[in-house]
Amino acid sequence: MVGTLYLLSVAVLLLVALALTLPVIRDIVLEGLERRRKWNNDEIERYTEDEEFDAGPPAVEADETDPDRQACQHCGAVNDADYAFCAECSEPL
Ligand SMILES: [Zn+2]
Repeated sequence: MVGTLYLLSVAVLLLVALALTLPVIRDIVLEGLERRRKWNNDEIERYTEDEEFDAGPPAVEADETDPDRQACQHCGAVNDADYAFCAECSEPL
């Protein structure tokens, strides 16, 4: 008898949970269908400009005060301090 009550209450709780999540799931599916329809009708811009990618590479600053870096005397490229030759021009540092 207790087992039956337990199973019944669990079943009711599961049904309630399912009933609560159904609208959310339905919204997700409807949103997906709407997006697909817009996509097929070219209502969505497929290529959007991303300003982050248009910004270009960040400026490399020669930081000669950094003890882990050293500037090449020939081309000015900044190399790690433990480099014996410049990574850019291959001249000895
Ligand atoms: Zn160099």
